[in-house]
Amino acid sequence: MGDTEDMIVYRLGANCDLDEVEEGKAYLGRVQGFAPFGIFVQLNDRVKGLVHKSNVKAQHEERDPIIVHVLQIRSNGNIDLEEVTPTVYQTQNVTKKTTSVLLSDIGKKIGRTVLIEGEVAQIKQTSGPTIFTIVDESGTANGAAFIEAGVRAYPEVDLGDIVALTGEVMQRNNQLQIEIGSMTVLAPEDTARVRERIDAALDLRAEPVDLPFLVESEVLRALKPQMRKVAKEIRKAVLTARPIVLRHHADADGICAAVAIEQAVTALLRESGGDFDAEYFLFKRSPSKAPFYEIEDITRDLDFALKDNARYGQKMPMILLMDNGSTEEDMPSLKVTRIYGLPVMVVDHHHPDEVVDEYLIGHVNPYHVGGDYGITAGMLGTEIARLVNPAVEDQIRHLPAIAGVGDRSEAPERARYIALAAPEYSEDDCRDIALALDYEQFWLRFSDGREIVKDILNLSGNPERHAKFVDLLVEEANRAIEEQMEAIMPHVESRTLPNGAHLFMLDVELFAHRFTFPPPGKTSGEVHDRLVRERPGEPVVTLGFGPDFAVLRSRGVMMNIPRMVRELHSEIAGGGVSGGGHLVVGSIKFVEGMREPVVASLIQKIGEAPI
Ligand code: MN
Repeated sequence: MGDTEDMIVYRLGANCDLDEVEEGKAYLGRVQGFAPFGIFVQLNDRVKGLVHKSNVKAQHEERDPIIVHVLQIRSNGNIDLEEVTPTVYQTQNVTKKTTSVLLSDIGKKIGRTVLIEGEVAQIKQTSGPTIFTIVDESGTANGAAFIEAGVRAYPEVDLGDIVALTGEVMQRNNQLQIEIGSMTVLAPEDTARVRERIDAALDLRAEPVDLPFLVESEVLRALKPQMRKVAKEIRKAVLTARPIVLRHHADADGICAAVAIEQAVTALLRESGGDFDAEYFLFKRSPSKAPFYEIEDITRDLDFALKDNARYGQKMPMILLMDNGSTEEDMPSLKVTRIYGLPVMVVDHHHPDEVVDEYLIGHVNPYHVGGDYGITAGMLGTEIARLVNPAVEDQIRHLPAIAGVGDRSEAPERARYIALAAPEYSEDDCRDIALALDYEQFWLRFSDGREIVKDILNLSGNPERHAKFVDLLVEEANRAIEEQMEAIMPHVESRTLPNGAHLFMLDVELFAHRFTFPPPGKTSGEVHDRLVRERPGEPVVTLGFGPDFAVLRSRGVMMNIPRMVRELHSEIAGGGVSGGGHLVVGSIKFVEGMREPVVASLIQKIGEAPI
């Protein structure tokens, strides 16, 4: 040390102990007390030493600051000090020399003080302490910091910051929690280093296992890379405490797809540490009434996400759309997600429009690989759920059969999934469960009915209640359908079209019960199924219409419903025609005053479609 440099006086941090004290160095201390042979000096609350009276340079009182030089640290831990009185010096802080502990290891450190480096994934202010959820490469844990009841601790720490914190590991209500003693936001270069380390490790941990599919399928095999990608993003969201909002079509297929993922994700959340109720606020499942992501849906989702972000310090969510999300009709909502930077993924089996892809970070769709509607969302969802969390496979392996039956899949995979579900669930059982889901969802409206739906799908570990409940729902649903059919069948009008197809028309507004089950779409579907059964092998189109809408079902007629909608839109000025669907099912909207010309023109187009 050159003469020109100031002497360095060290200030021992609160967590430091003997390990951080070095012979030959000077420290800032405080007089603790007097003895006949000298002065006791505290270097911090844990470390003290003795200045022999021969080494005292000035008069002192208790609590006086004093600078001491460490002469010797004895083997019994006693420290011999000498008072020094430099006139010019620099102080430097000494921090506890700890290597950081992984969050997955804190269970072995209960009662000990640990250093953690990680990302702040949530900041929740309670009426007592502030709870910081920390994520590192190994797991998730909560840290509690307290300054004053209900007052935000460490206001300089923001969501997403990389921090170093020290604190004691405690066990509270069977959960590990760190009582934060100190926390600092890392400097940019340290942030980069830690973030890189965490990201690399998370990337590995998020990688799904390699599993064969439940059934043999060329289409699934071709979709595997995209399915793995979606599974990986879901796992990553769970590992980084990013909320997932799962939107799905509110029918049996959509519900099966979404519940499979729900089972996988909630089980993963339960074992990942963090809050005991994370499975409720980090995963939300919401049915969409329309077969696409409506403006009404994104508006609600965004509203909740922004409030959760402001109120509970949650990250903005990832959005997963199942059994919808892949068509042009989803565009207005997808544009909103981009403004708010919400990552969106789609798992769908409706004919996709390419325009959606620039808004998605993942998109699984059988049409991308030469498959079709027959590989239903419930099949895709169950296979993805196994990749997300293989542990739930036994619970969900019957869901693809229910989905396939519910969505009338005609793909060869349908029979394979039904065989997989047997003998526990026969095809008739699957049909019953699908109907029970449709019926119950009608009354649930916009609610997910998480626990009710688990009972219907026999996921609650109460098979007796499941069986009784499904029986009851099926009985009620069939009674309601019978009533509806009794009322409407006498009003079905029929004609034969130029292409030889039978056209059946029904006014579901005038001749069916409204605001009850079955709703108009299902009512026309039910009528269609009956008419088709009466005319095996013949081409049949059923057109159910209300004042400003029409629903279409066909068998054996090659309609391109999206194209018909586009043509009607441009050909009928002031018709206000919109809608969509695919080759055999679709719905069309128009303005009430133009129903006659729109329906007439629609019928003409159906009559021109190839058989
Ligand atoms: Mn579907």
